[in-house]
Amino acid sequence: MNVTAYIGLGSNLDNPRRQIEWALDALAQLPGSRLEAAAPLYQSRALGPGPQPDYINTVARLCTTLAPLDLLRELLALETARGRIRDQHWGPRSLDLDILLYGDLVLADQDLTLPHPRLAERAFVLLPLHDLDPDLILPDGTALTRLLARIDRTGIVRL
Ligand code: AMP
Repeated sequence: MNVTAYIGLGSNLDNPRRQIEWALDALAQLPGSRLEAAAPLYQSRALGPGPQPDYINTVARLCTTLAPLDLLRELLALETARGRIRDQHWGPRSLDLDILLYGDLVLADQDLTLPHPRLAERAFVLLPLHDLDPDLILPDGTALTRLLARIDRTGIVRL
C-alpha cells in the first residue's frame, strides 16, 4: 500500500546545506519509496543548549510502501551514515530526520510517535510543510493553516 509520508530534515553541522542535499538524494533511493517533492530550505536559530550554529531545515514528501517502523529504521540508518552521535539531547547534529506524518496514522509506539509530537510547535516544520501542501489537514482534523496562524516565526528565514 502506498502512503504519503512527510519527513522533516534538519542539520546544523558539517556543511548543513550539503547534508540536506545528501539526505534528499538518499530519501529518493529508499526501498519502495518515491520522493515526490521537497520544500524550499529554511534557516532557523537552534533551540538547544548553549551557542549552536543555525539549522538548515526542510520537509520532503515521500510516497512509500515501507511500514512506519521500517521507514524509521531507514531514517536512523541515514542519520548514522552521516556520523550523527547521540551524545547530547537537542545538541548540534549533522543530520536529523523525523517522520512528521505517515498518512493519517496516529501512533504512540515506544520508538515512534505519529504525528511527530512537536510538529505543531515548530515553525521550521510547519512553514516548509505549508509550502508543499497548503491545504494539509492533520489526522485530528486540524488544518495546517490554523497551526501556522499562531506559531512564533522568530529566527527563521526562507532561503
Ligand atoms: P531525536 O534525535 O531527538 O529526533 O529523537 C530520535 C528518536 O525519536 C528516534 O530514535 C525515534 O525512536 C524517536 N521517535 C519518536 N517518534 C518519532 C518520529 N515521528 N520520527 C522520528 N523519530 C521518532
